[in-house]
Amino acid sequence: MDSDTRELLVRMLDAPGPSGYEAEATAVWRAAADDFAARTWADVHGNSFAEINPAASFTVMLAGHADEIGLMVNHIDDDGFLWVVGVGGWDPQVLVGQRVNILASGGLVSGVVGRRAVHMIKGDDKEKAVQLKDLWVDIGAGSADEASARVDIGDVAVIRSDTLELGDDFVAARSIDNRVGAVVVLEALRRAAARGCSVHVVAVATVQEEIGYVAGGGARTGAFGLEPRAGIVVDVTHATDHPTIDKKEHGDVRVGKGPVLARGAAINRTVHAGLVEAARAEGIDIQIQAVPALTGTDADAVRMSRDGVAVGLVSVANRYMHSPNQLVSVSDVDQSADLIAAYLAGLTESMEFTG
Ligand SMILES: [Zn+2]
Repeated sequence: MDSDTRELLVRMLDAPGPSGYEAEATAVWRAAADDFAARTWADVHGNSFAEINPAASFTVMLAGHADEIGLMVNHIDDDGFLWVVGVGGWDPQVLVGQRVNILASGGLVSGVVGRRAVHMIKGDDKEKAVQLKDLWVDIGAGSADEASARVDIGDVAVIRSDTLELGDDFVAARSIDNRVGAVVVLEALRRAAARGCSVHVVAVATVQEEIGYVAGGGARTGAFGLEPRAGIVVDVTHATDHPTIDKKEHGDVRVGKGPVLARGAAINRTVHAGLVEAARAEGIDIQIQAVPALTGTDADAVRMSRDGVAVGLVSVANRYMHSPNQLVSVSDVDQSADLIAAYLAGLTESMEFTG
C-alpha cells in the first residue's frame, strides 16, 4: 500500500463515528474522493457518494459502511456518573477498564469506564460475565449538574484509542469494522478510474450498518437512489486463525491471506465468478467463505433494493471483531481494492447477471 493510502486508512480509522454520527469520518472520505471523482455528494441519512463515468448507462454500486459501534449516554446520576447504552453490539467484557471519548456539543469529553475493583467482587459474581448496565462512565464530575454542563443525554462515545501498527503489515484499531471497507471502496474507485473503466461506478460510504439490523441501514436507501445493476459490498469478516476457534464450525479464514469472497444464496453467481476470474488474472490470492443465508452486511440491503441487485461480497479478515483492538492486514485491504478495480475494469455495458 502506498503511503498516501496508508495515511488515509489511519485517518479514517482514528476519526470517531458511531452509527448516526459518522460525519467526521465521512468528511475525510469525501475530501479524499474530491481528488479524483467526477462528483461527490451526500444524502439525508449521511451516506456519502463518489462517482466515475456518470454518463455510462450501467451503474455499479460499491458499498462500505463508515460507521462503527459506540456508546450513548442514557442517564446522568446524582453523583455525576454517566450510564450508557450500546450503539451496536458490544461484548461488555471488552469495555472494562477502557478510556472513552464522548462526542459532546462542546467538543470531546474524556472519560473512563468504571467497575468495582476485583477485591470487591465476591462469590459467584466473580464467575459472571459483566453486563453493560453494571458499568458506568466517570468523567471526573462531582455532581449531576457538573456532568450535565459537559455532556447531554444522547451524546455518543467511542473508545479512546489510536491506530496501532503491528509489524510491517498488521494494524489494530477500534473502528476496523468497517472503516477498512469504506477505504477499500474508495480506493477501488480510484484505481478503476486509473486503469480505465467503461461503466458508471459509485462508491458509497454507507451509514448506520451497525444498528440497521436486517438490512435497515443507509445502504438500503443508498441503493434505491442509485438504482445499480450490480453491487459490491466490502466489509470485514471473522478471521478464524487465532486460538480457541473451531474451523469445522467457522471455516478457515486467515489474516494476510487475501480478500475473502462470500458464496451463498445472497451472492450473485456471475459477480462472484467475475471476482474469482479477476483475482486469477491479477495473481491475487483469495479465500472463499460459505454464507448460506443472509450475510449480515450491507449486501443484504443492496441485493433487495427495487427488483433486485446482483451483489458480490468482498471481506477483509478481521481478528477481535467489535473490540477496541480489531486487527487486519494492510495488504489484505490493499489487495481487496486492487481486486475490485480489476473486476470493474473488465465490465462492459452488455453484461448480464441473470440466470
Ligand atoms: Zn460490525
